[in-house]
Amino acid sequence: MSTTTQSLQLPVILPSGPECERCVARLRSALEHIKGVAGASVDSTTATIHVAFDPNVATLSRIEQEARRIGAEMASQIDHKTIDMRDLDCPDCASSIEKAVTRLPGVLWAGANFASAQIHVEYDRKTVTLNQICRAVEGHGVRACPVGPAAAGKEDAASTTPSPIDWLRNNRRLVNFGLVTVLMAMAWPLPHNVQATLLLAATVLGGWHTAFGGWRAVRARALDMNVLMTLAVIGAAAIGDLWEAASVVGLFNLGNLLQAGAMERTRASIRNLMSLGPNVARVRRGSAVVEEPANKLSIGDLVLVNPGERIPADGEIIYGRSAINEAPITGESMPRDKGPGDAVYAGTLNGTGALEIRATAAASDTTLARILHRVEEAQAQRAPAQQMIDLFASKYTPIVVSLAATVAVIPPVVQIVAGHPAAWFAWFLKALALLIIACPCALVISTPVAIVTAIGSASRRGVLIKGGAFLEEVGRLRALLYDKTGTLTQGKFQVSEVVALGALNESEVIAIAAAIESRSEHPLAQAFDDENHHRNGHHHLEPQSFEAVSGMGAKAMVEGRAYIIGNTRMMAAESVSISAIETQLSNLEESGKTVVILASGSEPLALFALADTPRTETKETVQQLGDLGIAHQAMLTGDQERSAAAVAQTVGLKEWSAGLLPDQKLQIVRDTQARYGSVGMIGDGINDAPALAASSVGIVMGAAGSDTAMEVADIALMGDSLSRLPFLIRLSRRSAAIIRQNIAFSLATKLGLIAMALTVGLPLWLAVMGDVGVSLLVTLNALRLRS
Ligand code: ADP
Ligand code: MG
Repeated sequence: MSTTTQSLQLPVILPSGPECERCVARLRSALEHIKGVAGASVDSTTATIHVAFDPNVATLSRIEQEARRIGAEMASQIDHKTIDMRDLDCPDCASSIEKAVTRLPGVLWAGANFASAQIHVEYDRKTVTLNQICRAVEGHGVRACPVGPAAAGKEDAASTTPSPIDWLRNNRRLVNFGLVTVLMAMAWPLPHNVQATLLLAATVLGGWHTAFGGWRAVRARALDMNVLMTLAVIGAAAIGDLWEAASVVGLFNLGNLLQAGAMERTRASIRNLMSLGPNVARVRRGSAVVEEPANKLSIGDLVLVNPGERIPADGEIIYGRSAINEAPITGESMPRDKGPGDAVYAGTLNGTGALEIRATAAASDTTLARILHRVEEAQAQRAPAQQMIDLFASKYTPIVVSLAATVAVIPPVVQIVAGHPAAWFAWFLKALALLIIACPCALVISTPVAIVTAIGSASRRGVLIKGGAFLEEVGRLRALLYDKTGTLTQGKFQVSEVVALGALNESEVIAIAAAIESRSEHPLAQAFDDENHHRNGHHHLEPQSFEAVSGMGAKAMVEGRAYIIGNTRMMAAESVSISAIETQLSNLEESGKTVVILASGSEPLALFALADTPRTETKETVQQLGDLGIAHQAMLTGDQERSAAAVAQTVGLKEWSAGLLPDQKLQIVRDTQARYGSVGMIGDGINDAPALAASSVGIVMGAAGSDTAMEVADIALMGDSLSRLPFLIRLSRRSAAIIRQNIAFSLATKLGLIAMALTVGLPLWLAVMGDVGVSLLVTLNALRLRS
């Protein structure tokens, strides 16, 4: 349901030289698998990729990330930035700003959102600078500054010394409203000509800023609220209706003042997250400990964290133990015990232990910073509902404005022709009222305020939603497919049995298996490392080559000999005969364990049984999701039938498919879509990327620890728990309901006001009240999503 496609040509550095044909094919298929990408091609001779994508679903950063996963670096001069817009208080000005920025040469895409007061831009660094873009935004009377640590620092400095000018600027609406009210009150008892002067002064003083904004919009060839209001006020003043003109200006300021107040609460939910990082960190420098700004930290710095402090950086604990509250990241306020070797995140709260950590990410690249960046990007993208409304709004305003022009001219002319006296004055007033109603304000914000609030509210609970489109879709899901390992189970394997079959003994086969798996990112791999540690101490082997075979196992050279490791399918593919060990195999699988075989040539060398525990909360979640109307829930796994059945039964799933290759998982996703329509796939994001991409919504678990997982998902559950799913579905449905109410309510009042204006007549002040009042109400309605 998307209406926009953006087409880009980007330079790329391919993994191993431009002639690497396999990686070209892999890169293209990876790019085409991203949701929202309509087509991709890679030209290896010119080292460029060409992608066509819908910027409301896919983002440039997602495309870059996906390319990086394949090992291709986009040597791109394309940048993406989110810019904060202060003083943005007219709902449909966002779109005139967006138009003006989009029109700048070098800007590929811009998405402005009134509800978050931000504009997200993708631009060619060589053609246009961020400064030029900011200036284009500022040309519309809003203050713009790039988001980021630097900007936040500036903000702090400004707030410590608020100059009177700043105060006036920040409270312009309040000052304007006060001025207009006082002048109108003073004018009340005075004789007519003095009264007129005061009212005119009120109109001009309170309205010049709006007029200015209107002038800028006209220059950007946009017809926004400022233009319409200014025309109406000038019209009212021109026919000598100064009371009307002044009260329109006063009410307009008041409405915007209240609106800004309500809006600030929406925007605050994101800004709160942003302010979580502490400003200073205590860092070890040689033998001294010095205080440094947290945004100056670099990778490898040793940072000290006292009990009760916020952790200033992403890092690894090297000394100390503590219970850490990770709510800002995972939404889970139950503290988690952490000790040496464990990862900690910037913005989380240290408990009672003192810690020393080694920073593992620069300040701009912490998990928290990336979550924020994703949330901002998500808010800039338009959900299908909003695209429809925007389309409607872009037609609505010109239609009502032409209606106003018609009303001002035709009826009086008809009256004259019919030989009656023309009621010029009355019709002109009706036309002015129509001009005010022509602003689609309440309508255009009805959807984004709800979506921004919902995305913000989800992120505070550790659920990262990558765009309004996905928020919308989640509530419509009819089927959910789960990956087994790491999703339904904890994905923390332990080697529970080792059976040596040939010439090598148990510690030797473990050493070889551990060597191969040291290059694998499969959840099984860690278990071999642990077991090797246990049996062989610090002694470990290095593989000379490694190749993962997705969904089956891996191949590697260790100490000059070729080995394969994996499931029975892998053995069949490599023609290893396993008939002699069939009974041993099935006995181990019976107990729900995953069995892996190590072989060399055609000879099996060992059997390993690995145990993994199902998550405790899963059973209850599956139950709840069924109650929420998810008609079909099933498990998809590459593991063997018997192990699969055991896990499915423990978590209460009645359906499962075992022994699947990644492509087969993808096929099942497609089949399920044909049967149920909207299908969600939930995985750990490591080896299920194709299935996640093919599903209607790809949901990834435990993204806090894994970069890949956070990037491939449409929705990321940062915490390691499925129990957020019912919340997510309810949130999506509630926001859909609120959006429906908002649209219905603002459309109905608009139509009602138009009908009134055309028939009995509509005082201008009531037209303004209708406009700003409804905007305020839809905002307040959306704020209900915060709880
Ligand atoms: P799941 O669907 O449970 O996530 P995968 O598709 O990742 O499983 O893998 C399927 C099966 O392939 C595993 O159960 C395992 O038997 C085998 N396998 C995959 N990768 C490896 C590996 N690196 N080492 C050993 N076995 C592997
Ligand atoms: Mg998996």
